Amino acid sequence: MSGFEGSYLGAADKISPAAIMECKICWTPYDPAEGDDYRQVEPGTAFRDLPGDWSCPNCSAPKAQFMVLEDPGSEAVAQDRKLEEIAQRLTSDFREVWHASMRDLPMVNKTLSVEAVGFQVWNERPLGVLITPWFMNLVLMPSEDDNWSEIRPGTKDILNFPSGDYEFIHNTREMTGAYMACSLFSPMFEFKTQMQAVEVARAVMAALFDPGNIADTDRAADIRAAREAAAAPANDREADDGPERETVPTRRAIITGGLAAQAAAEA
Ligand code: FE
Repeated sequence: MSGFEGSYLGAADKISPAAIMECKICWTPYDPAEGDDYRQVEPGTAFRDLPGDWSCPNCSAPKAQFMVLEDPGSEAVAQDRKLEEIAQRLTSDFREVWHASMRDLPMVNKTLSVEAVGFQVWNERPLGVLITPWFMNLVLMPSEDDNWSEIRPGTKDILNFPSGDYEFIHNTREMTGAYMACSLFSPMFEFKTQMQAVEVARAVMAALFDPGNIADTDRAADIRAAREAAAAPANDREADDGPERETVPTRRAIITGGLAAQAAAEA
């Protein structure tokens, strides 16, 4: 790799902790694996974590004069940033829906808020869970090579995960663009706190990729059970409410959270 991949100046968020940097005055490298004996910088210290007054051990050029020589972690950093952008676009889009048209409807759980959870890349496409006060969906976004703009909203696709097959429905929104969603919960009344909803969302993301969740007869059954289990401890904490409230939300989670259930309206 060349030494001209970009200056560090103003780009601290673009380099990974593994980046090997080079002084552009005297070409002295800084390798985080080695640190800097000259100024007692421990091996394992990322360039961006060096003190602000650190300078080239050879020519004393300031930190800003260093350029990226090689960055084995740059792709991961770029991918993380892309996922963060997608999560932000989704949440601001649905926050707008929430404030514009959903807030006063009886089907919403006002203790909840719009949040994107666990977005990661699956088969080159961003996948995660979107929580809103009125639904929890798995959301799959297109890869850069996909063109979903011609796909009619409402078109269904079965996608194969290690835990089984799940039905996703194509949809599109002005801000979010084209996406696919698989309904997990709707409405959201069984969740008493946002934290509880987030815990279940994380459990769903884990269960989705666990081949142990496959069943011959009903592949969705075990993932539903996993979601129920994730919701259960929170329900137990509410035991003061009496046995009825303790069990009803759990049962509701099974009935309304069926992955094969018809997709919830997307607002
Ligand atoms: Fe130097």
